Amino acid sequence: MSVIIFAESSEGKFKKAVYEAVGYGKKLASQMGAQAIAVCASDVLPDEAELASLGQYGADKVVSVKLDAPRPAAMGDALAQVATAENAQVVIISNNYTGKSVSPVVAVKLKASVASGVVSMADTSNGFRVRKSVFSGKAFADVDMTSAVKVLAITPNSFSIEAGGSAAAVSSFAYAAGGNAYKVERVAIDQVKGKIPLTEAELVVSGGRGMKGPENWGMIEELAGLLGAATACSKPVSDMDWRPHEEHVGQTGITIKPNLYIAVGISGAIQHLAGVSSSKVIVAINKDPEAPFFKVADYGIVGDAFEVLPKLIEAAKSLKAAQ
Ligand SMILES: Cc1cc2nc3c(=O)[nH]c(=O)nc-3n(C[C@H](O)[C@H](O)[C@H](O)COP(=O)(O)OP(=O)(O)OC[C@H]3O[C@@H](n4cnc5c(N)ncnc54)[C@H](O)[C@@H]3O)c2cc1C
Repeated sequence: MSVIIFAESSEGKFKKAVYEAVGYGKKLASQMGAQAIAVCASDVLPDEAELASLGQYGADKVVSVKLDAPRPAAMGDALAQVATAENAQVVIISNNYTGKSVSPVVAVKLKASVASGVVSMADTSNGFRVRKSVFSGKAFADVDMTSAVKVLAITPNSFSIEAGGSAAAVSSFAYAAGGNAYKVERVAIDQVKGKIPLTEAELVVSGGRGMKGPENWGMIEELAGLLGAATACSKPVSDMDWRPHEEHVGQTGITIKPNLYIAVGISGAIQHLAGVSSSKVIVAINKDPEAPFFKVADYGIVGDAFEVLPKLIEAAKSLKAAQ
């Protein structure tokens, strides 16, 4: 019996979400008296030491699967094959960009039920129950999963990372790709380098239409750079091509849960809040004291962004200089 954890890698390195998923998988496996097995299925596999390092976060063993391309369908297929070979009862996947495509594939292949947006440790005391967020984070649903195999897509930044274990044994799995007619073909990958990925970021500085135009984003980027934060934006901003679409947060964009979300010149429409309201601390900067964002913000600054941002940048510089 085992709990399988999808260990997504990018250019041979694991993402933070993997450590959360492995920790979650280990706790659940201990609860169930099962083994926690991390599975890395990728076209560029991490080296042996990186794979083994997942043992420090709770993996009892690590299985690597070499793919010919980084297609979520192939990742899901490979994960399902390892899960079958390891007699898995649960598969844990981070509910991030890749995970959202991988989890349904795994569920179909294993005839498993799937719960996405999971925010609690599974309660296995009487059946198998998990809590997941629903209605764009406005409510929670407690779900009883009754299928033999369960797929849990856990919400990033919802579970702690616990390091301290020792390196895990690593083995490889020969993936049988035959018979899968994938309809998606990778044409190109346009990867942004040297920036903190939004879904992994603990601090986020975000701009809305109140920033007036793309020429003013230097201030958002400078503040983000000084704080070590990622940048984000509201939907109209990305619709107008002021910022790239991958920065769009909200109901129709990415859902994030950073420790700090600074919203500059964003009104706080319900569709925007759907993607950011789970942030631990929210700071809203808006010249309109009636802006809806102030109702959900922990800290509010009523003022003109073009006066407030330079002051914040100066303050961040002084703090950095004093460190
Ligand atoms: C089905 C649907 C899905 C949607 N999904 C999303 C989504 O995923 N994400 C999203 O963001 N939106 C989404 N929207 C759009 C959403 O309803 C809002 O229209 C949008 O969030 C508003 O963006 P904004 O706050 O940047 O712009 P505005 O509503 O124009 O607000 C600009 C704010 O900036 C302030 N401001 C202006 N000048 C300054 C200044 N100099 N200094 C400080 N503050 C200033 C204003 O007071 C105002 O509050 C969706 C809408 C629909 C119908």
